[in-house]
Amino acid sequence: MKNYKLIHLIKEKIAISENGGCSFAELVATLENMILELEEVSTNLKNNLITEWWELEQLNAHILSQDNYESKLTDYLESHGDDINNAFTAIISLLDQALNNPSNAEGEATPIGNGWFICPFCTESWQVEAGSKFSICPSCNKKLLIKI
Ligand SMILES: [Zn+2]
Repeated sequence: MKNYKLIHLIKEKIAISENGGCSFAELVATLENMILELEEVSTNLKNNLITEWWELEQLNAHILSQDNYESKLTDYLESHGDDINNAFTAIISLLDQALNNPSNAEGEATPIGNGWFICPFCTESWQVEAGSKFSICPSCNKKLLIKI
């Protein structure tokens, strides 16, 4: 569930920034931290998010390299607003996909040793094949993340 909370936080942060509540540099830094914390999403989704984030990071690095940061930021947002908006739109769309994807894990199974795990929803325990990243609880059918 941490994953879902984080995705909502990212969307919230983008909305706050769009309303002038935080600077572009702060948003880019926060987005990076939040995306890196998304351990429960698929590698594919995470890589796609990082690719979009990298677009923003490059714009931000360019802005920060300018002498007069404050005024350049305004100029840059005016001239590159489409690029920035496209990256945000792509990030939000990827996050929505993650939220709506039924294949996403609904929680994390608790390891109890020797490849056995306990379901956090119904306390069922079962053995998981070595190397598995996900497993379905045999009792309540929740899709759970397996971390060893
Ligand atoms: Zn269960």
